[in-house]
Amino acid sequence: MARFFISNPIVSKQEIIVSGQEARHMRRVLRLKLGDKVDIFDGTGKEYRSEILRQGHQTLTLRILETTVPNRESPLTIIMGQSLVKGNKMDFIIQKATELGVSEVFPFVSSRSITCLDKERIEHRVNRWRRIAVESSKQCGRLIPLRIETVAKFDEVLERGSLATKKIILWEKGTRNLPSLFRERNATARLSESVYFLVGPEGGFSEEEIKRAEGTHFVPVSLGSRILRVETAGLSFVSILQYEWGDLR
Ligand code: SAH
Repeated sequence: MARFFISNPIVSKQEIIVSGQEARHMRRVLRLKLGDKVDIFDGTGKEYRSEILRQGHQTLTLRILETTVPNRESPLTIIMGQSLVKGNKMDFIIQKATELGVSEVFPFVSSRSITCLDKERIEHRVNRWRRIAVESSKQCGRLIPLRIETVAKFDEVLERGSLATKKIILWEKGTRNLPSLFRERNATARLSESVYFLVGPEGGFSEEEIKRAEGTHFVPVSLGSRILRVETAGLSFVSILQYEWGDLR
């Protein structure tokens, strides 16, 4: 069943009006006709099985057949502080983070970041990542698309985590390993808790950055003895977190 995202919460119990890009996609790309059925989600956790009732010049009117609240969002809130990376690698990271159930991505620039973009290009990139997050959410069945914050500096990204119950900075020289992290938490695990973790750029974090992070209660965690690429480090950590404390089981 084709899925579509409507960014404004659906208030009507009967009809949904679809316009803009989603309407164009329904008509021109998928060539949907009157009576065809689609699933609509609006970011509130609900899904609306609907059928196409009317076609206007630029809009489509759908009739809601059934409203459900499927259980596809992770009970564990994972926030990924992701340093900017070269080329289009971030596109891949955003897509996979969406599939794996990350709640939010905070992109940031740190002292060894190679990518330095001007304000306009940053805005352009963030919009592009947000579109990728919505497209990926449609494909993988998510009900609440992954959110993406604007790009921050390292110190700001440290502060953004103040509400998370567990704060981790992935560091190849970290003294804490995964078994010790999970041993400590599994004793008191409550799935409603949230994990905020940071992944460094290709050049890694500086020792000074690690110290500043530790000063704001981030725990440096190592993912073993090999150096992983940025995308491998973040996405494998998310998979492990989802297995231990989330819904990948
Ligand atoms: N500058 C380093 C590696 C950077 S790898 C070097 O070349 O030696 C990019 C990022 O991935 C790191 O900043 C870290 O956040 C994460 N990472 C890579 N390998 C890791 C490991 N074994 N343990 C923890 N984090 C790792």
